[in-house]
Amino acid sequence: MSDILVVILNSQLQRTSFPVVQPLPNWGLWLCEGTTIGCYADEKAHNVSFSLFPSSTLNHPFAFSECPPLGLESLKVKDSQIQASSYKRMGLGPHRGRLNIQSGVEDGDIYDGAWCAEYKDQNQWLQIDAKKLTRFTAVILQGRGSIWSLDYVETFKVQVSNDTIKWKPCMNATEEVVFEGNKDSETPVLAILPEPAVAQYIRINPQTWFKNGTICLRAEIMGCDNICGLYIEGTKDKLDFRHHNYKEMRKLMKSVNEMCPDITRIYSIGKSYMGLKLYVMEISDNPGKHELGEPEFRYVAGMHGNEVLGRELLLNLMEYICQEYKRGNQRIVHLVEETRIHLLPSMNPDGYEMAYKKGSELAGWSLGRFSYEGIDMNHNFADLNTIMWDAIELETDKSKLINHYFPIPEHYTSEEAMVASETRAVISWMQTIPFVLSANLHGGELVVTYPFDMTKDWAPKEHTPTPDESFFRWLATVYASTNHVMSDPDRRPCHNEDFLRYNNIINGANWHTVPGSMNDFSYLHTNCFEVTVELSCDKFPHASELPIEWESNKESLLVYMEQVHRGIKGVVKDRDTEAGIADAIIKVDDIDHHIRSAFDGDFWRLLNPGDYDVTVTAEGYFPATQSCRVEYEHYPTICDFHLTKTPKQRLREILAKGGKIPKDLQLRLRQLRIRKLRASTKLINRRRASQQRRARGAHN
Ligand SMILES: [Zn+2]
Repeated sequence: MSDILVVILNSQLQRTSFPVVQPLPNWGLWLCEGTTIGCYADEKAHNVSFSLFPSSTLNHPFAFSECPPLGLESLKVKDSQIQASSYKRMGLGPHRGRLNIQSGVEDGDIYDGAWCAEYKDQNQWLQIDAKKLTRFTAVILQGRGSIWSLDYVETFKVQVSNDTIKWKPCMNATEEVVFEGNKDSETPVLAILPEPAVAQYIRINPQTWFKNGTICLRAEIMGCDNICGLYIEGTKDKLDFRHHNYKEMRKLMKSVNEMCPDITRIYSIGKSYMGLKLYVMEISDNPGKHELGEPEFRYVAGMHGNEVLGRELLLNLMEYICQEYKRGNQRIVHLVEETRIHLLPSMNPDGYEMAYKKGSELAGWSLGRFSYEGIDMNHNFADLNTIMWDAIELETDKSKLINHYFPIPEHYTSEEAMVASETRAVISWMQTIPFVLSANLHGGELVVTYPFDMTKDWAPKEHTPTPDESFFRWLATVYASTNHVMSDPDRRPCHNEDFLRYNNIINGANWHTVPGSMNDFSYLHTNCFEVTVELSCDKFPHASELPIEWESNKESLLVYMEQVHRGIKGVVKDRDTEAGIADAIIKVDDIDHHIRSAFDGDFWRLLNPGDYDVTVTAEGYFPATQSCRVEYEHYPTICDFHLTKTPKQRLREILAKGGKIPKDLQLRLRQLRIRKLRASTKLINRRRASQQRRARGAHN
């Protein structure tokens, strides 16, 4: 990039060589060409310093109009930067005074839900050291996160200082301002300072509090780097770094599709309760069709609508893949040519819109998590675990047990079943495309969890491995170890669990049991392996965090997709006709979980390196076995199978006069149930559409 500095003074564009540091006589904006731009300064400014910004932030709606959070919530502010006049005990220390911090379940444990002062008087304060001169513009206050006690601050004062000795109160003309605080313990309240205050330290000084409680608070401070505008850092990629609401998301997806029409396609898998479409971006060298032998991959984000980082990362990812493909980046070209990628950035658009309206600092912890009807989609998939475990316990004839492709239970397919329209859409999608690998992007923690998510005997938590434990641990490790934030050995825990101890990966059920999770369903109902990625401590990071979050996750997102090319793959064919055999069962010795071939007989079996005996069976054919060795390299071992028809099958085919031979019972049941689910979904959607039409009519 060139060393040109662009200075805008009084709306006049001026160019000068870089770096030039001088006090500005007037309000102005520095711009450095290429990847960096400068900052605001006002008339009284001394000591003007430069901040470096990626040029993509020029179009950023937040740039130069609003100061970002200092990062109490995002942990950018370290524990050592937060002090207090006093505190009740360790778990309620000043380091817990962070917006949206979550307590552990036990009262009195070391991870509690706020800073709480030891004394109940007006001399208590929580102090934040911004480490440098900062233009403080606002304070956000929240009460204590606790299911046991109710504590929040009703009014407070704010003071600033440069040395922690002399404190300057926040004034409104002649009087010290008393800010309105909280009315409950969860809703964050924004208090804008009447005038921005420039200093290094800021104090929140409670004046009154909930009468039956004590002085407790969680906070965030809005402030700009010195007297400059928003400081955005982190990446050289030129992507659209901002939060996209539904319309903006659609627009961005459309623009990616227009930029890369040969490798992208947009489609919808269904609608949300409120009628928003669930858009998917498909990326492949032949969009719109499954190619023989090419594995299918999916990322799903935003099933909890307020966990928004995954949505933005997937939008970044589609833009990035399109740009890099056009530039001829060999890694990306290879990925696109060898893989069919599906990106669903928003599984719960209704919830997202709710959180988006409040914004990143004021949405709180759970607004927008659920579907419009109040359903938690990650508890809403059919619980196939219980069906499997009950069968194992009750079935005396072990040869009758199945270990994969469990059908949806009958009751789940009815119109009355509390199954969200979004969940129904995803289940139908899962059955339409032969997905091999997936990840489900969440937020609010930093950890990768792998199935099972549900414990066997309703224990609140217990390690509950699948037969593919070792490959799932590998998958989780791939993401966690390449993510810049997770893999930082010095990071502090987000809320109340220290996942660093487990290298940032954990079996889902060993964290907390979740019946009806998407991951468990995916593994038990389809061939697709899926993990959950918890992307950030903060569920709704400020827009200024997005470039660095992209940089932290870019390699993880790419390398995780590449894992779809591990293990073995091949095609199962009829020895006589060379026709592909669909629904053949692929068994790997010692792993009690089979997968099935897709429509054209192609299959993918994810496996860690090693030697495997693989047996393929199909209705009407003699089984075949061969040894397949999986190497450490990033490409799969090809293991094709040619099956010979049994004489009985030949006879049946002659009797059926070329008609189709019925499939096995398990498969028939699975297909029947999904047809029922689709039928009831159609009826529900039709009813809802007419209700919404009537409601709109009534409003007119
Ligand atoms: Zn979540």
